[in-house]
Amino acid sequence: MIGATIGAGIGRLDGVHGLVIDALESVRLVTANGDIVEASKTKNPELFWGIRGAGANFGIITSATYKMHKNMGDIISFDLIYEPEKNVTLFNTIANMYLPPGLTVETIMAYNETTAKPTIIISSTYAGGSEAEARRWMQPLLRLNPWYTDIKPIPWKKMSTDTTLGLDKEVCANSQVYDVYGVNLRRHDAATWVKTFNKLAKFFEEQPEARPSVVVLETWPNQAVMSYPDSSTAYPWRDATTYVMIQMRWDAPGNPVETVADAMGRELRDDYAKTSGYNGLTVYVNYAHGDETIEQIYGRNKLPRLAQLKKKWDPSSIFGFHNPLPTSYP
Ligand SMILES: Cc1cc2nc3c(=O)[nH]c(=O)nc-3n(C[C@H](O)[C@H](O)[C@H](O)COP(=O)(O)OP(=O)(O)OC[C@H]3O[C@@H](n4cnc5c(N)ncnc54)[C@H](O)[C@@H]3O)c2cc1C
Repeated sequence: MIGATIGAGIGRLDGVHGLVIDALESVRLVTANGDIVEASKTKNPELFWGIRGAGANFGIITSATYKMHKNMGDIISFDLIYEPEKNVTLFNTIANMYLPPGLTVETIMAYNETTAKPTIIISSTYAGGSEAEARRWMQPLLRLNPWYTDIKPIPWKKMSTDTTLGLDKEVCANSQVYDVYGVNLRRHDAATWVKTFNKLAKFFEEQPEARPSVVVLETWPNQAVMSYPDSSTAYPWRDATTYVMIQMRWDAPGNPVETVADAMGRELRDDYAKTSGYNGLTVYVNYAHGDETIEQIYGRNKLPRLAQLKKKWDPSSIFGFHNPLPTSYP
């Protein structure tokens, strides 16, 4: 939980509750010189600001306190599968769809072993309303007649395991190499989604060993995320509306498919970055591959303040394993 929180903590309730860092009230951490300190809005507030977006840089967090939200009851889950031929219509529909705070659309481009074709899975959730209301918001996607449809209420606490066709276990399969590339979008360019789908389909055809690879586009509405000022935390990408996670996967380290899969991951990421609505590549720190610049991860205007914090709390860069901050900037 802490690992996900300190990057920002994005998820299906972003539109309703904000980021996980927005619910964080305080942390206790062991600093580089062995001190135990508290950070919150009243104790070491500057450090608390930096932890919320760049928290792997300043110490080991040993405990954290969160503000709890009211239980929203069941959520409505939609698992839909579309034929590959519908990709243009589907991506144009998603690009033009209004998402109220409780509705999320996760688009997964994958290889379907049963049909031996690339396919598109939509995993949507609706929180805070009835199934009838959810179906009304989902009409643009339901109207496209998916060839597989599973719509059901599920308890909120099963949101991560029982949505997306219950594929949670597959995602965490043992003995798989995960080569992850991330990119943020604040603009949805359907033509780019079509282009990447076609590239991926060709890739699946030519590289059977990399068929577990998937492109996941998490379109999480951000109304509650945007209700917090950008200056309130170090996290720089509150205006992102889709987080793209390109997961190039194969079954063993050293497999020759690695070089070509790695190149494909970078190429797809570049395609999305060009039409992302940002000035080139930006990435959520927890989805970063490791080859991005610090500006692409932490945002140019947050870096001077973050570098000062790094200099104060970890001048020797002991906590420098995960996308480390510099001790001076620029
Ligand atoms: C399939 C998949 C799905 C994901 N889905 C989401 C999602 O929905 N939302 C989301 O926000 N993220 C998501 N992530 C990203 C996730 O947030 C990161 O992978 C995160 O690093 C996981 O935390 P961890 O503690 O397991 O990581 P680790 O790999 O253990 O840690 C990552 C880094 O965080 C730092 N760290 C970890 N714990 C602490 C601590 N206690 N104190 C200080 N630093 C610490 C360390 O520097 C470490 O190098 C997903 C990742 C994958 C692979």
